[in-house]
Amino acid sequence: MNEWQRLDEQYILPTVSRLPIAIERGEGNYLIDTDGNRYLDLFTGLAVNVLGHSHPAILRALEEQGKKFLHISNLFLNPPAIRLARRLVENSFPGKVYFANSGAESTEAAIKLIHKWIRTEGKGKDGIVVLKNSFHGRTLGALRLTRQPSVYQDFPRLDFPIYEVEPNDVDELIRVCETKRPAAILVEPILGAGGVLPLSGAFLETMGDICRKQHILCCVDEIQTGMGRTGTLFAYQQTGLQPDLLLFAKGIGGGLPLGGIIAGHRLSHLFRPGDHGTTFAPSPLSAALGNAVLDVLLEEGLLEKGRQAAEHLWNRLRALKQKHPDVIRDIRGKGMMIGIHTKRSPEEIRRLMLDFLKEGILVNVTARTVIRLLPPLTLTREEIDRFADALDEYISARFSA
Ligand SMILES: *Cc1c(COP(=O)(O)O)cnc(C)c1O
Repeated sequence: MNEWQRLDEQYILPTVSRLPIAIERGEGNYLIDTDGNRYLDLFTGLAVNVLGHSHPAILRALEEQGKKFLHISNLFLNPPAIRLARRLVENSFPGKVYFANSGAESTEAAIKLIHKWIRTEGKGKDGIVVLKNSFHGRTLGALRLTRQPSVYQDFPRLDFPIYEVEPNDVDELIRVCETKRPAAILVEPILGAGGVLPLSGAFLETMGDICRKQHILCCVDEIQTGMGRTGTLFAYQQTGLQPDLLLFAKGIGGGLPLGGIIAGHRLSHLFRPGDHGTTFAPSPLSAALGNAVLDVLLEEGLLEKGRQAAEHLWNRLRALKQKHPDVIRDIRGKGMMIGIHTKRSPEEIRRLMLDFLKEGILVNVTARTVIRLLPPLTLTREEIDRFADALDEYISARFSA
């Protein structure tokens, strides 16, 4: 055990099982630890560092905005945030943005807005349909602890109805919506923590249909799939869905905490001053970084470059699946959000992750046996080949005997 591990254990609550390396700095697509070892970062802090580390556009925005002001509160007009909101709306669907500090807070805002809709315009409807194994955040609903009636009003208690539907089970979705009359359906276009599981075209089409015909709110959690990760700014843009509500976070702040929702025209008129808010969000610095991320994605062509890199990565992975059918069950996901579903035990896959770490390649494991890749969109062909060659050799040496 190294010194940092010892101190971490002594002073930080163990809510996560950590890798045994302490990070000193990031450099492009690499992380460098306190012993000077370099790691190709195929995880980007869980889909956050879309541009890799210490990207010049991010550093420029940090310096420019950092010199101006870091925090002003919501009492003032916030030019970097207004600019970011405008660009998000112009590159998705007509509506308005509420900014938050994290993904879970974006979910909280979404719950409150849906609830407000139920009370005003969605009379007779209640509850939210979500998918089995979906992940939308970890807060318990801070409202339960807030005891100021003007703040909690009659916003949702923790016991508002939730209906769980199996991902891609079209019949179950139809049945639940007909019998329960839910107010909203909320899905991740690709379930992230649920094992990198894309929703099928048929399922998404049915969802869109039901929402239109039954007057149900169509909601997408793009916290992980957004910011160019799947090849378009948001993943729903490759489906026929027309969201009423979109949740974003993770990549948007260029490494700083930032999240929020885009509310379409069915919802954008509902929140009134006092209905929701937070001290920090939108952080002007996070918003400035968000604008820098959009500059690089939309104006400097990284979205397109990322698509090309992803295509090469997918070609290499598909070839590996053909070569090692007894080890690789399936490659799932889209663009730079990839799950390599294996036929090996959780112990073997965890060992693979640690062995790769020793070789200087950082991959993640989710759903126990899925190797999860969330690379930066700046990943190069050479870096892709290095990873694919390493995986090929590892499988041949360790698993194919
Ligand atoms: C990470 C994630 C969240 C929660 O975001 P936090 O910033 O960790 O609170 C919500 N939904 C999805 C799809 C996520 O991937």
